[in-house]
This record gives sequence, structure tokens and C-alpha cells, in this order.
Amino acid sequence: MATKRTAAKRPAKALKPPQVLAPAKRKAAIEGVSATRARAIAAKEPVAPKAKRGKTAKPLAPERIKAILDALRKTYPNVVCALIHHNAFELTIATILSAQTTDVGVNKATPELFRMYPTPKALAEAPTAEVEQLIKTTGFYRAKARNIQGAARVLVEKFNSKVPETIEEMIQLPGVARKTANVVLGSWFGIPSGVVVDTHVLRLSRRLELTKADDPVKVEQDLMKVIPRDRWIQFSHELIHHGRQVCIARKPRCVDCSLETVCNSADKTWSSH
Ligand code: SF4
Repeated sequence: MATKRTAAKRPAKALKPPQVLAPAKRKAAIEGVSATRARAIAAKEPVAPKAKRGKTAKPLAPERIKAILDALRKTYPNVVCALIHHNAFELTIATILSAQTTDVGVNKATPELFRMYPTPKALAEAPTAEVEQLIKTTGFYRAKARNIQGAARVLVEKFNSKVPETIEEMIQLPGVARKTANVVLGSWFGIPSGVVVDTHVLRLSRRLELTKADDPVKVEQDLMKVIPRDRWIQFSHELIHHGRQVCIARKPRCVDCSLETVCNSADKTWSSH
């Protein structure tokens, strides 16, 4: 008589013990770097004693400046302004709006603003409440609306609706100081009027010991003395990108930094020297 085949009972799968990552992998997971990198970090730890950092014998030595500029150019060969714009007027308005917010945030607001009010005249004559509504997401929208409409008005009344090409004229526009003027003159007209000093350029210039100042105007003066004029425009773009992607404010990713060998910042999170 055929007997019913019963499936042989498989032994119950043993539960896997909680995964314990090797130290290098654990570090990699925490710091968001590859395991290979993390192993390298582990091998080189402890990092240089903090007391040794924050000091470079000759921070402004021409060969050091050249090394910084070369590394930046190599790392960011085609970097451009991240604000979306199609002409000098749009770039001026977008840069005014970028105060205290991100370029990504500005880029979300400006397409509709420029579609509705594509010229200085149209923006100058627009109902302020509507302008405020369109730029509300960029923050400080009342003051910004006042500035961009004021700038548009000055463009119409003083500059024949054209963005002027000198820094002295640019800073006559409401809401436009040296930083905005340098962005527009450099990125749109290709005029190296100065060095754009935003929050990233300021932080990185200090970390790289290119300045000791913390006032943007003074930082710009210091940078203009040590960076060759023909590098002013790209240097700003490169430093801004580096500050966003690698040399971030709270936890710089020094292990991934192309400037690491020339940097002795006290803020370093890892050091090879
Ligand atoms: S090594 Fe670190 S602190 Fe120095 S520039 Fe690079 S990311 Fe910034």
C-alpha cells in the first residue's frame, strides 16, 4: 500500500546574528565614504594632532596659491553659476533673490516670475502683492520684492533698461552690493570686477588661510591681492561648488578633498599630514 509521502522537515533556518560591521565598514557607513577610503582613513589614524593644524608656514606663498588654484580647476573644470538665467537682467534679479536662501530654491521661483515679468519695465510696474506671491518661497519676500522692483525701476530710469557693466553703476541698484555685482559682471559679461564672496567663499578662504578676516568686503580685498585677476571669476565658482559638495560647513569631507594636502585647517575631519 502506497504510503503518503511526507516532506522531510527542513531544519528551521537559524536566525542570522545581527550584522556586525568591520571597523572600516562601520566608519564608511557612518561617514558616507567607500569602505576602501574608510580603511585608508583607519590606517592613517590618528590624524595629525590638532595643535599642528590651523597653521601653514607661508599660507600666501605663490606656489601654495598655485597648488590651490590648479587643484580647484582640475576638480571643477566646467563649473558655472548655478542660478538659472537667460540674460543679465534675470541674473541680477535671481542673485538678489538668492540672499539667505539656496540657488535651488531661487530656481524654483524665477521661471514663473520671469514669464510674468520678463523685462525691467514689466517688473517695475507689476503689482507688488503679485511679485511677493511669486517669490514668497525664497524668504524675506517683502524686502526682496521691494529690492527687485526697485532695481528694475532704476534700470528703466537710469540705465535705459539695460544692466550696466561697471561695479560702480551696478551697486546703485537697490539690493545690489559687491557680491551681486560681481556675480553679474563675472558670470554674464565676463568682467573680472572682483571676487564673489558668499558664505562658502568666506568659509573656505578662512579654512585655506587665504584671509583672516570675517567681513566679506575685507575677505574680497584679501583674495584680490593673492588670486590672479584672470582667475577671479572661475575661482569664485569653484570655491562655491567645493563648499557645497566637499568643504561643507559642519563636517567637511576632508578625506575626499582635492585640496587636502595643502590644507591645515583646524576644522579638518581627517588629515594625511
Ligand atoms: S581638507 Fe577639509 S577643511 Fe580643508 S579644504 Fe578640504 S574639506 Fe575643507
